[in-house]
Amino acid sequence: FGLPPIKNEPMRNYEPKSDDRAKLQKAVDEMLAAGPVEVPVIINGEKIKTGKTAKQLNPSNHAQAVCTYHEADAALVQKAIEGSLKAKAAWENMPWNDRAAIFLKAADLLAHKYRYKVMAATMIGQGKNVWQAEIDAAAEACDFFRFGVKYVHDLYSTQPPENSPNTWNRTEYRPLEGFVLAVSPFNFTAIGGNLFAAPALVGNVVVWKPSPMAIYSNYLLLEIFKEAGLPDGVLQFVPGPAEEIVGAAINHREFACLHFTGSTFVFRNLWKQIGNNLDKYRGYPRIVGETGGKNFHLVHKSANVDAAVTQSIRAAFEYQGQKCSALSRLYVPQSMWQGEFKEKLLKQISEITLGPVEEFQHFMGPVIAKHSFDKIMGLIDAAKKEGGQVLCGGTGDDSKGYYVQPTIIETKDPKSVTMVNEIFGPVITVYAYPDNEFEQTCQLIDTTTEYALTGAIFSLDRHALLQASNLLRNASGMMYFNDKCTGAVVGQQPFGGARASGTNDKAGSMAIFYRFVSARTIKETT
Ligand code: GLU
Repeated sequence: FGLPPIKNEPMRNYEPKSDDRAKLQKAVDEMLAAGPVEVPVIINGEKIKTGKTAKQLNPSNHAQAVCTYHEADAALVQKAIEGSLKAKAAWENMPWNDRAAIFLKAADLLAHKYRYKVMAATMIGQGKNVWQAEIDAAAEACDFFRFGVKYVHDLYSTQPPENSPNTWNRTEYRPLEGFVLAVSPFNFTAIGGNLFAAPALVGNVVVWKPSPMAIYSNYLLLEIFKEAGLPDGVLQFVPGPAEEIVGAAINHREFACLHFTGSTFVFRNLWKQIGNNLDKYRGYPRIVGETGGKNFHLVHKSANVDAAVTQSIRAAFEYQGQKCSALSRLYVPQSMWQGEFKEKLLKQISEITLGPVEEFQHFMGPVIAKHSFDKIMGLIDAAKKEGGQVLCGGTGDDSKGYYVQPTIIETKDPKSVTMVNEIFGPVITVYAYPDNEFEQTCQLIDTTTEYALTGAIFSLDRHALLQASNLLRNASGMMYFNDKCTGAVVGQQPFGGARASGTNDKAGSMAIFYRFVSARTIKETT
């Protein structure tokens, strides 16, 4: 049995006067005019209005709420887990083709019926401009669901290659015993989708705690899956206070896996709690996590300056730097920096505009919330106090939305505060390295931070490229040659990092699916 062709979802460009633009504009306008929608907790397909509500705000205009959502609590998480365990047998015994069809159908519904709505919710709710919303909520989300089907299909057909006479050896890829807890971030609607879809594809039941800052777009995904035929109980939607929701789930005997994307700090804490709870569990829970980054571009003296400048701006400032993969450390040879790099960089940045995403014209929108705004401004101040020189930006305005100007800090100290700490905002710290210290700079990059997510080397000299790539072998899970360090595409660049950046299980590849199955070996003698 085969699959329909699996391809990356084609990107649309939404240029003014196009049909796509008109439809998306309409969806955005309608959403803004309608005011906050009400989002329930979903358990066993039932919409539960707990009455304890919170709001997801529009970061472009924080006077406006995108949705009012009902919060779950520990008792409801308990109910969600029990419901999911009841739904488990039918879900895991569903023939694979029928299970797969739900994910392919959901991708088609998203691509063709709900694209503008989910994009509008991602734009208004998460502060993404149209292009970033297209990359995420339309293209990447569809790609996760469709390529997920392909990878699981391939996984199931991965079988022992040898059988002795009169035997048949086979591997049965069972789902985990118990339930999976998915904890998702605000910055990608698609990541929320993948955190539940990847384990569910292989027959797991999932309890999902979405980010309070991405509730609406995430809820829309859930509705799409319901329309696509996902049985009730397979995916439980339990927004609410993180400690209570997650605490209730990881205290449960049937807790089988944490599938997490978020901060390093939270992930480490959860890992410790899970470790302390080991005696309670039936088995050893799987822990799969994508966490922080402190990503670098290393420019060699042979680099194409224009490419390195443009890609650095894109990697650092698209979506306001709120990608785990975003560029935040830039290393340029001193003579090149003083020569033309700095000037070209600052000139291009001066052309960037910032504003509400519904205006459809700005390269940058707001950062997600007050706490991010304050953290970013605080780190910029700390850099200044240490003697960092702010070459552009360094200011913000949170009176209406949470706007932070694209910021370049030049430092003489390669281990200064903004070289080491994750910022998750539109800030590049530049260290101009002595021209003859390329190798030492590689060592410096490798030892400056605890993270190891993405990195890029810009060089037209293949020897230098390979030398740096070898020296930086463990400094990132994603290495780009002459391209920006963001924008991994499902089916093309499996995504993940090591060290403090995560368990490097590579989202968007076959590898991650092994984490959500517990294989059984069957030997049959005939
Ligand atoms: N996959 C995204 C990229 O390559 C980043 C995902 C994240 O921010 O977690 O840019």
